[in-house]
This record gives sequence, structure tokens and C-alpha cells, in this order.
Amino acid sequence: MNDLFALTDQYSSNNYSPLKLALTKGLGAKVWDVEDNSYIDCISGFSVVNQGHCHPKIIKAFQEQSEKITMVSRALYSDNLGKWEEKICSLANKEKVLPMNTGTEAIETAIKIARKWGSDVKGIAENQGEIIAMNGNFHGRTLGALSLSSQESYKKGFGPLLDNMQYMDFGDITRLKSLINENTTAIVLEPIQGEGGVNVPPDYFIQEVRNLCDEHNVLFIADEIQVGLGRTGKMFAMEWEGVEPDIYLLGKSLGGGLYPISAVLANDDVMKVLTPGTHGSTFGGNPLACAVSIAALDVLIDENLIERSAEQGQKLLNHLQLIDSNIIKDVRGRGLFIGIELTEAAQSYCQQMIEQGVLCKETQGNIIRLAPPLVIEDEEIDKVIKVITEVLEKK
Ligand SMILES: *Cc1c(COP(=O)(O)O)cnc(C)c1O
Repeated sequence: MNDLFALTDQYSSNNYSPLKLALTKGLGAKVWDVEDNSYIDCISGFSVVNQGHCHPKIIKAFQEQSEKITMVSRALYSDNLGKWEEKICSLANKEKVLPMNTGTEAIETAIKIARKWGSDVKGIAENQGEIIAMNGNFHGRTLGALSLSSQESYKKGFGPLLDNMQYMDFGDITRLKSLINENTTAIVLEPIQGEGGVNVPPDYFIQEVRNLCDEHNVLFIADEIQVGLGRTGKMFAMEWEGVEPDIYLLGKSLGGGLYPISAVLANDDVMKVLTPGTHGSTFGGNPLACAVSIAALDVLIDENLIERSAEQGQKLLNHLQLIDSNIIKDVRGRGLFIGIELTEAAQSYCQQMIEQGVLCKETQGNIIRLAPPLVIEDEEIDKVIKVITEVLEKK
């Protein structure tokens, strides 16, 4: 394996520092390294592989489409874009969808829509629109997404970034009331913060955000790129709050772990601010992406993966909450999206779990984030519980 690491490190740009583990194969919730050791994957490419690695139905859709046609620019129609659009719009209960490729592009698109809606519909003076974001968010790495970030280490050296962004603590409704003014176009948040540490919002916070948005004519943008599509035991994490946003952003597992595709969903009164020539993407909505995404959504529903996520997640959470350990500060999450917050650095504990066959990674230094594929089987969940318990108990 050392040759492989050396080769990769020689040529890779230096913007990642991966674990010393090289994977070569995956199936369902399992992955194998180049020495044929197997692991239960509790990272899932950061919730990209909700449907499991190399799902046969998604691969079949990919293969069949790749032998027909893979690329039609949006200068023309294709025979499956409309089918995909109908499916995703009906799942999200929105009238319109705009396909992009990556999560960060969906965020960029939402920022453009919010700004244009602010001036065209709300009547805010040109260049005066403001967007409110949460501290501890993660919305991607492009310049618009970075402008929403509150984390200085992500932004330092990359300025000038976008102006007119305001920040508040996730859950601080008092602060939100003080920030909203006649120039506010949108509030953007993850209904459960992922990268920020599996942060579940305080009760009623999301509902109060919705009420304030209605009261002040502000768009509610829900970034469900990581927590959407069954990850938290609901199709959308917003359902936990019984609230619908004005704009949904999806990505990651929308492509079934196989092909990048992201989506911006809104009703026509919002989406109509974009007209021909104001936005686009060469690869967005291409036939291969649509075929894969249709299969990925079908698998989620046909295999009851949302219910599975809720059940298996609850079981995992219950067991983790029983672990007797002085270093566990908090165990939280919804569905198969769980954070174990430690009182100390989590990296060495993740390393021990990996040695025992459970792949996981820390976030924010001291939080172990667990997000296995939703297809994880009973005995695999049992193994995850056993390994974590052994590693953390009596510490
Ligand atoms: C991963 C992620 C993004 C960015 O997606 P990319 O495909 O990496 O650009 C945006 N928002 C959230 C919540 C994410 O988890």
C-alpha cells in the first residue's frame, strides 16, 4: 500500500490529508481495501452512498443509458430530463427544478436566485440584498459558498468574497430577529448541520425561522445536500420540523453514489427570476445523470430506505447512549446520521474503530460522525455498535 500512497501524494495537490487506507471495492455498506480487509463504511463518502456502494439497479441504469446517449446540452431536449424532473419535483412538492452537478453549484445557484428575487420581486435596490447564514455551516468550497461560511480558516487568503452576508448562531432566534431588515432576501441553513458536528436545531427553531420568513417576505433556503434523501430517517430533514422551505438544495446521494448531480427546487414564483441566458451548466441535467438519479430515487423508495434509516438509526442511537464512558459528552442525531461528541480529540478513537473494521471520521476535531449507507444490514449495525462500545467504554 505504501507505493500507492507515495504515488498519490507525489501528484496530488495538497488540499487533503487522507487516512492511510486505500479502497478498491465496495458493495452495500461494505468496502474493501487493497489488501482485501473489509470494513463497514460509516462515512459513505459523506452521505453520497445512501443507497449503498455499487447498487446493482443503479449500475444497470448507468450502463443502459451509457450505451444510448450520455450528453445532450440544454440547447436541446432529451427523452429523460422531464421524467427525472417530474419525479424529484413531486418528492419535494415543488413546481420547478434546476439541475446542476455538485452541491456547491446548487448553493451558487440559490445565491443567484435569492439576489435576483430580492431585486426583481421584493424590490430591494440593486446590490443591496442581504443573506443570513448560520455559524458552523458548510455549504461548499466555491467563492459564493465560502462567503456564507463563518469559518475563517476556510476563507483566509481567498478574498474578496461576496458582500452582504450576515451570520448568526444556529438556533438563535433573537439574533435572527435583529438581523432581518427590508434588504434581507434569504436565510440559508442546513436543517441539521453536518460538517459542523451533526448539530440538531433546538425545538421550534426551524418553525420560527419559517414564520419570520413569511412575516418579512424572506426566502427560506434549506441545504439538504447532506441530510436529505433519507439520511435522517425522513425524505427531507425539514420534515422533522413539519416545515417546507422556499428552496430545497439536493446533491450527494441524488446521484446514487455513482454520478454527480445536484438540484435546486422551488416554486415558479421564485424560480421565474431566472430567464434564458441568466444561468446554466454544460453538464447539468445530462441524460446519464438523469437516468442514474431516477434509479437512485427509485431505490430509496422501493427498498424502504427511509424507514430503514429511521429504525436502524434509532437502534444505533439507543445503544450509543447507553455506553458508559467519561469521554462521551453527547450522542445526538436523527436516523442514520449520528454524532458522538467527545471531551477530547476523536482521531485516535476513529483509528481504533478502523482497525476493528468500522470506517469513520471525526469532524470539528472531537465529534465522530456516523453515516453508514442506509442499506446497512442488521448484523452490520450490531458490529458497529459492538466496535464503538469496545473502543469508548470505560474510557
Ligand atoms: C457536501 C456539502 C456541500 C457541497 O457539496 P459538493 O458536492 O462537495 O460541492 C454543500 N452543502 C452541504 C450541507 C454539504 O454537506
